[in-house]
Amino acid sequence: MTGRETHKTKAFVLHCLNYGEADLIVTFYSSDFGKLKGIAKGAKNSKKRFANVFEPFSLTSIIFTRKSRDMLAFIDSCEIIDHYDAIRHDLEKTLIASYFIDLVDHFSPEGKKNEKIFELLNNFLTLLGQEKTSDAAVRFFEMRLLRLAGFEPTLDHCITCKTPVANGTAYYFYAQEGGIKCAGCAKPERYDQSISAGTVRTLLLGKDMDIDKIKLINLSNSLAAESRNILIGFITHVLSREVKSLKVLEQVRKLCL
Ligand SMILES: [Zn+2]
Repeated sequence: MTGRETHKTKAFVLHCLNYGEADLIVTFYSSDFGKLKGIAKGAKNSKKRFANVFEPFSLTSIIFTRKSRDMLAFIDSCEIIDHYDAIRHDLEKTLIASYFIDLVDHFSPEGKKNEKIFELLNNFLTLLGQEKTSDAAVRFFEMRLLRLAGFEPTLDHCITCKTPVANGTAYYFYAQEGGIKCAGCAKPERYDQSISAGTVRTLLLGKDMDIDKIKLINLSNSLAAESRNILIGFITHVLSREVKSLKVLEQVRKLCL
């Protein structure tokens, strides 16, 4: 008797770290156990058991054993369900998928199951593989992940006077307070950028929109810039740091896309 339980689950590879000469420490986001860390013994030598399966954002089926929830899992086998080749053949798509994976990693404590986050990743990677890239898809992913992780910003009304969002009113976003204020309640500094009601409404719409409709949404330049500023400002505030993969994505876009 080893005292270990064996489990099988579907899991996305979040990232992978070399450990010693032959082993890998792999972090997954699984449907049944949430974020999960495991060691793949001899993974670098055993092409048979682990044939290039540990690439970021691959969807896999893993079998693992562990003594208890807070112990590192032993990955016994790992098979690819979807390698997302259509994403990997496209630089921008690969960078976006890496960003999705990074966000899920940052917003997920280890061992906390959240099937909806797993489903979100599954749906958006499928969308990314099939459709053209769009700012809307990236922003709507952020909105949905924030909600599922319990950090949804208040965008449907002013957080001070509670008046619902109305056309023609300018708004300001306050990351520390987690929501928008109308022009009447906000005391904007000179450098604060106002946000249109249209931007706020688009983000609210994107939160629940059917996944098949997202490809139809094309954000204007001002809408794309405003929604980016709100969400990235907020995410950076909640995480107390910048998300590196987003920086890379934006730099590469500027240089060569
Ligand atoms: Zn107000």
